[in-house]
Amino acid sequence: MSASWNNVLNAIEEKVPAPTFNRWFKTLTPVSSASDVLKLEAQDEFDALFVERNFAQLIQLHVNRISTAPVSVTISYRSPAANANVTTPEPIAAEPASEPAFSGSGDMPVQTESHQSLEERIAKAGLRARYTFENFVAGPSNEFALAASRAAFQKPGQIYSPLFLCGEVGLGKTHLLNAIGIALLETNADKRIRYMTCEAFMNEMVQHIQDRNMAAFRQGLRHDLDVLLIDDVQFLSGKDGTQQEFFHTFNSLHQMGAQIVLTSDRYPHQIPDLDERLRSRFQWGLIADIRPPSADTRLAIVRQKAHELDFSIPEDVAEFLATNVQTNIRELEGALLRLHAYQGFSDRPVTLELARDVLRQFLRAESRSVSVEKIQKTVCTYFNVRLADLRGKTRKRDVSHPRQIAMYLAKEITGESYPQLGKAFGGRDHTTVLAGYRRIESMISEDMTTRAAVENLARQLS
Ligand code: ADP
Ligand code: MG
Repeated sequence: MSASWNNVLNAIEEKVPAPTFNRWFKTLTPVSSASDVLKLEAQDEFDALFVERNFAQLIQLHVNRISTAPVSVTISYRSPAANANVTTPEPIAAEPASEPAFSGSGDMPVQTESHQSLEERIAKAGLRARYTFENFVAGPSNEFALAASRAAFQKPGQIYSPLFLCGEVGLGKTHLLNAIGIALLETNADKRIRYMTCEAFMNEMVQHIQDRNMAAFRQGLRHDLDVLLIDDVQFLSGKDGTQQEFFHTFNSLHQMGAQIVLTSDRYPHQIPDLDERLRSRFQWGLIADIRPPSADTRLAIVRQKAHELDFSIPEDVAEFLATNVQTNIRELEGALLRLHAYQGFSDRPVTLELARDVLRQFLRAESRSVSVEKIQKTVCTYFNVRLADLRGKTRKRDVSHPRQIAMYLAKEITGESYPQLGKAFGGRDHTTVLAGYRRIESMISEDMTTRAAVENLARQLS
């Protein structure tokens, strides 16, 4: 396949700008020889995800053009162990890299003369110690943002600056932003890192203006920093003076090759009243979004948080929480904390009953219950399919795809068991519903159209 991969490459080279081509396409290696599969390997997990998200269609298109029989394209990545054996220079290093932001050599741990402990340095940088990569539960809804954050930590300032993390409230943006800073401090004590919310940026700025001491503010943020982590930049909306100062901070750090990571509850193009120059800078690097977690991920998060609290809860209680608190992980965590607190001053064992009692208030607000039938009908209207067909046996894609979307939404929204859902979908086996759920879950991260449909429908149903 590698000869024809070269043909594909040549065709793509004419279509995309040279830096993009060198960075994302030349670094792919064909690894399979089968005639119906083109297996490409990226240099790491992050690259693989990025290529899959952004260029899979382009690659497939050109593969289709040059091959007579259908060829399916897969993108994977080398395992880290295999990477160690690669003796050719690392492709990333061949990038027209902007000046490395840090003195000290590459991956060597730098000895620091600082007497501060890690905890002190974390606090001094404004970071919260408990938000680490280790404590962050990965799932399909956040894997891209997680991989991008890891890349920002592994090669700060070299791959993407800025990295722009966006997603709705309570889905882990602040957690990831802190994790990047903590991981950097753990591996290199000399890094000058600053975490602050956008609001704190403004307040500090105002304070320095009042004190007639803007020089100190600018020195601290425009020059003496390797990594700037700014939380909630949507706050800049409509604040012209702060935007202007931020603009200069951004430019100065960017020129020095510092790593900038920003978070926001919406995409740059959705932030109202934002200077166009800032907006375009937010879009310079990489934008990675976090979506609401699936049922499986929510359950894993409940277990993780319980573990952090040293709080052992039975499986059915964990499932109960994950099913009933869906919109926002902060609330999910709040529910767990409440149960933990309650259990601390009562003698009752943690049971499903106790959970129901304690969380009654929570649940009333959460589950303005939507029935499976309502979901099915909404999906039918959206895709222009008849309800009888959706529940029926036909396997035509224009019915089976909406059906799987309805299954996915039904599981996510109602939390009903798979056998129960099987009944609601014309007496199907529970494994069929599970398969449909899994299929849509993975399509959401690969296919924009499916994702948009699911998001639209979820919005209509909420
Ligand atoms: P955001 O900044 O997006 O509003 P946060 O980062 O403050 O959200 O997350 C809210 C809470 O949910 C935090 O306590 C965080 O630790 C937790 N959380 C979110 N996503 C995850 C995850 N994938 N794994 C573990 N905890 C998470
Ligand atoms: Mg936040």
